[in-house]
Amino acid sequence: MTRILSGIQSSGECHLGNYFGALRQHVEMQDKGQGIYFIADYHSMTTVRNAEERRASVRDIALDYLACGLDPERAILYRQSDLPEVCELAWILGTVASMGLLERSHAYKDKLAQGGSADFGLFAYPVLMAADILIFNPQWVPVGRDQKQHIEMARDMAGSFNHVYGEEVFVLPEPHILESVQIIPGTDGGKMSKSTGNTIRMFWPQKQIRKAVMSIVTDSQAVDEPKATDSAVFQLWSLFADPEAKKAMFERAEAGGLGYGELKKDLLQRLLAYFEPMRERRAELEKRPDYVEDVLAEGALRAREIASVTLTAARRAAGLGAGG
Ligand code: ATP
Ligand code: MG
Repeated sequence: MTRILSGIQSSGECHLGNYFGALRQHVEMQDKGQGIYFIADYHSMTTVRNAEERRASVRDIALDYLACGLDPERAILYRQSDLPEVCELAWILGTVASMGLLERSHAYKDKLAQGGSADFGLFAYPVLMAADILIFNPQWVPVGRDQKQHIEMARDMAGSFNHVYGEEVFVLPEPHILESVQIIPGTDGGKMSKSTGNTIRMFWPQKQIRKAVMSIVTDSQAVDEPKATDSAVFQLWSLFADPEAKKAMFERAEAGGLGYGELKKDLLQRLLAYFEPMRERRAELEKRPDYVEDVLAEGALRAREIASVTLTAARRAAGLGAGG
């Protein structure tokens, strides 16, 4: 069966970008193969420095997955730190990851460019991510466009290890990027990210969603002036519109006569209606915290079974431990 692997960091609350760029696809794919999805709490240590914040985020994301339709009978959902084997594999892969490769990482370069003080964790982030992926030897790795480089780096490390030790221990992973899902913009027009405070979360109280939608940046064209339809507000609105509605709205925008206030109100209504059933389901699940923990524990058991096969093969190929 096709093995499909992907993850979301526990660095805050999931938002529309995570939903359309990741969650929704993960749920759809659980019918197409063995979906393995993890909540990346080790990764979140590069940004979140508070234990309770991290725990709360893990819980929230698990609830989001289940509310959005992940079926734990089919897909595996686990917490990354319940599979510490990935840290061992990260070390192994780090020894075949060149400095030049890691220095080209966009995430690392961006952090430095923003004047942030990067730590080893951030620098090594692509190595841990390569371990997350390669430990399952998945055929598909569905991710948003922002993660494409990380998959390429994982391919590079997999190829290097196989070459160095003369064994095909790792399958070279393929990114699976849906062409229809671009990077979803945030309220400030930049990439919507948990860590940048420009998000719209589908499960916020309605008032908070309304406030965020109304705050989406727009240009200052008056109502009767034509509008550019490639801006953040149009991109976000388009997520909830079928092609016919989209065509009609874009024609009005280009002709002039469509105000941003009207567009935002329509976006708000569509967004709330779209997520209403999931919101209800989430409210039910929130009353069952033990169930959510059980799902994660069971997910970790199943994940470990698959992961231990690859890790054992990697250890043997590299001459580690007593095996071989
Ligand atoms: P952080 O700011 O902490 O990096 P994030 O919001 O970027 O958080 P991640 O946990 O890094 O979220 O990514 C989880 C998944 O969501 C990845 O597959 C990523 O490609 C996807 N994703 C994140 N942001 C967007 C976005 N704005 N548009 C489309 N996909 C996104
Ligand atoms: Mg990210």
